[in-house]
Amino acid sequence: MAANRTFSIIKPDATRRNLTGAVTKMLEEAGLRVVAAKRIRMSREQAEQFYGVHRERPFFNDLVSFMTSGPVVVQVLEGEDAVQRNREVMGATNPANAAEGTIRKALAESIEANSVHGSDSDENAATEIAFFFRNEEIVG
Ligand code: ATP
Ligand code: MG
Repeated sequence: MAANRTFSIIKPDATRRNLTGAVTKMLEEAGLRVVAAKRIRMSREQAEQFYGVHRERPFFNDLVSFMTSGPVVVQVLEGEDAVQRNREVMGATNPANAAEGTIRKALAESIEANSVHGSDSDENAATEIAFFFRNEEIVG
């Protein structure tokens, strides 16, 4: 399959513990290339919109508070089967269930503070990339 793109967030628990480089190293070792990146503080509005699909879930308010609690690093990743490859290296949502060698197994604190986000489909990847990046900010 041709190289394609996915969207990643290094979450506040990871930036707080100075793990931006550690996460990125694992992404790169998984065959993904960072073709855009910026460190931002998400607004409440941005976080609510970004996680809008979870609006009715009991953890929604806590999740929005967590995602706005500190800086995040948003990234566009490029590679063969980028969405799937990223989901594999991220590991299961709950670090207690994440496989050895995954980012969440190695670094995540809890099911909420789980260090990384990754798009779950090509369609969502395109939407999420466009939510945070202009085309000229992505340099492959
Ligand atoms: P992400 O969308 O962040 O890549 P994911 O696709 O593995 O993670 P989702 O089910 O989309 O997981 O949940 C989005 C995020 O909401 C999770 O990454 C986690 O931070 C938080 N979350 C999910 N389930 C729970 C829960 N039961 N309790 C607290 N927080 C949760
Ligand atoms: Mg998800």
